[in-house]
Amino acid sequence: MISPVISARDLSKRFVLHNQGGTAIDVLAGVSFDVQAGEAVVLLGPSGAGKSTLLRLLYGNYRPSGGSIAIRHRGSMIDIAGCQPRQLIEVRRTTLGWVSQFLRAIPRVPTLRLVEEPMLLRGADPKDATRRAQAILARLNIPERLWQLAPATFSGGEQQRVNIARSLVDPAPVLLVDEPTASLDAGNRDVVVDLINDARAKGTTIIGIFHDESVRDRIATRLLPLSQLATDVRQQAS
Ligand code: ADP
Repeated sequence: MISPVISARDLSKRFVLHNQGGTAIDVLAGVSFDVQAGEAVVLLGPSGAGKSTLLRLLYGNYRPSGGSIAIRHRGSMIDIAGCQPRQLIEVRRTTLGWVSQFLRAIPRVPTLRLVEEPMLLRGADPKDATRRAQAILARLNIPERLWQLAPATFSGGEQQRVNIARSLVDPAPVLLVDEPTASLDAGNRDVVVDLINDARAKGTTIIGIFHDESVRDRIATRLLPLSQLATDVRQQAS
């Protein structure tokens, strides 16, 4: 049997609010699930259910309070919560991508270069990287006159689309997707849905959050309500 791409077991996350008398919030408890290659799993649950927290745990931004998360990296399962920082960086460079609506602190790097960069880091041919970066920027309706400028002065929507171009131009084998289409106009939203579905068609596994129901329906191969995660594996086992 082929091993899953992501495997979470008995995962829990407790936040302790030190500035509020040490109040503890148990956001996730007893969460277990597997994601198989080629799936597009969309997390469901009301606001505050812990969807973003789960995505951050999978990316290694948060440490779980208990349980384990393994991600298939170069053929073996890596423990994301327990691995060394150097290994986490390596997993993120080659296996695990993050797509969101928010641009991380952007240095003064021209847009085209920003979009080429992840491909160059993976050893792509520079000419090929430029060609692919230009194609995705055009597809996402970023005007050509902006390509040689750093995105710091761009509109919010333009920055958002540069960020999406950067993470979808050469999609990682596993993509964690946090509401990338929120606040995009309908045309650009359709492009992002197509880009995500293209990535999956080429073998990328997706786990994400999409509030827009029509977007969700066009992307998901499986819906995963957070409240059911704890029972998911038990059902699979029986
Ligand atoms: P969702 O994405 O489903 O809306 P979140 O994962 O963002 O839910 O949040 C779940 C709960 O965890 C919320 O009650 C939120 O306030 C709390 N939470 C999230 N991140 C932190 C944090 N860094 N510190 C304290 N509480 C947090």
